[in-house]
Amino acid sequence: MNYVDEVLAKVKEKNAAEPEFLQAVEEVLESIRPVVDANEALYRREAILERMTEPDRQLKFRVSWVDDQGQVQVNTGYRVQFNNAIGPYKGGLRLHPSVYLGIIKFLGFEQIFKNSLTGLPIGGGKGGSDFDPKGKSDREVMAFCQSFMTELFKYIGADVDVPAGDIGTGAREIGYLYGQYKRITGLYEGVLTGKGLTYGGSLARTEATGYGLLYLTQELMKCHGQDMKGKICCVSGSGNVAIYAIQKAQQLGAKVVTCSDSTGWIYDPEGIDVALLKEVKEVKRARLTEYAAARESAVYHEGRGVWVTKCDIALPCATQNELLIDDAKALVANGVTAVCEGANMPTTLDATKYLQENGVLFVPGKASNAGGVATSALEMSQNSERLSWTFEEVDAKLNQIMVNIYHNIDEAAKRYGKEGDYVAGANIAGFEKVAEAMIAQGVN
Ligand code: NDP
Repeated sequence: MNYVDEVLAKVKEKNAAEPEFLQAVEEVLESIRPVVDANEALYRREAILERMTEPDRQLKFRVSWVDDQGQVQVNTGYRVQFNNAIGPYKGGLRLHPSVYLGIIKFLGFEQIFKNSLTGLPIGGGKGGSDFDPKGKSDREVMAFCQSFMTELFKYIGADVDVPAGDIGTGAREIGYLYGQYKRITGLYEGVLTGKGLTYGGSLARTEATGYGLLYLTQELMKCHGQDMKGKICCVSGSGNVAIYAIQKAQQLGAKVVTCSDSTGWIYDPEGIDVALLKEVKEVKRARLTEYAAARESAVYHEGRGVWVTKCDIALPCATQNELLIDDAKALVANGVTAVCEGANMPTTLDATKYLQENGVLFVPGKASNAGGVATSALEMSQNSERLSWTFEEVDAKLNQIMVNIYHNIDEAAKRYGKEGDYVAGANIAGFEKVAEAMIAQGVN
């Protein structure tokens, strides 16, 4: 049996109850076939694919905390340290009721290749909990974060594993987590990224994922003879990634006409008002109905449906598996030019295939949303230097990193006769570097 098929079969057997992880592994292994086939004897002997699909370690722990009524609550915490061949483990912490080991493994696995693509020395990891920060008081969130870190601190460190934000983990949560780490260890070190500017955070980190997504999209369009100016964009989500994607798209002259949250979505033909969206989501932590109530041009729809809107560029920025085959068909029917993922794995495998087969420029999240983790790595550099760079310096580095990623994945795809297949390009470019580092470091 072919080596890729053999490993895929083993991974499916071992992880049958983790569909998101299997989806991520299948996407990567299917698209790196040409590299694996060209080096089969070496990779087989080194068991590269088996080692890459098995985390270095996975930690699961109880998180007990007391709510505002004095009731003890219990959640489950996770940290999956997937691969540190090219640098310390790096990846965010997701706080969402849907979190279980399979979600953290899929995200940690994706992170290996994404981090490799940034060109910076960071390995892959991810963590989180089934805790839901929604509707909790600041004190309850603090109690949870302190309890979570009281266990996690044993396994992380500035040169070991550096967590960051993700869904449900924003500036407030990072602050509480950092405070507890410092209190327990006595260390003032860059153990987390996404920190506040008063205690070691980097300028432009908050904006980085959304801005980076647009820098890459802009380069993609430019290399296909097109401009962002005047383009109609559909964005899903209304969190950190979505907000700054919308802001940068507008700065580049595009018009963004949609955004969404987990209960509904907005169509705003006048273009999304970012200041209002930030007020509703970042300050009031409210539903999008409040956005619609405050803006005459906006129409609110219950449920999902962003992708039925006619657009040139689609930017899914909410969560995994939110762009399905019927959405892909609607986008193609409406003449979409490009789909660039802001979220992690928002497009299902069949939807991705449909978009690619119908000539849509499709860039997977591990390339197009890598600006967040890249800027986190820049935050680590600033912490090590005990210096802070200006917004312009960080933003310029981010822009350059995203342009480089685009050319890197484009070149890798071409090298293996898959021109224009950026899924293959991203997976191949990310994989080659990690595989080489693993082989150089011997069996471990
Ligand atoms: P946020 O928590 O800030 O925002 C998430 C957004 O997605 C919210 O609008 C949320 O709606 C919506 N959402 C979450 N879960 C669901 C769901 N199950 N169904 C529908 N909508 C949902 O997270 P981020 O913006 O940070 O992250 C968004 C995506 O980007 C994730 O896939 C994340 O892994 C990825 N990412 C994030 C990076 C970062 O730097 N933050 C870096 C790279 C990738 P609601 O408001 O109702 O909860």
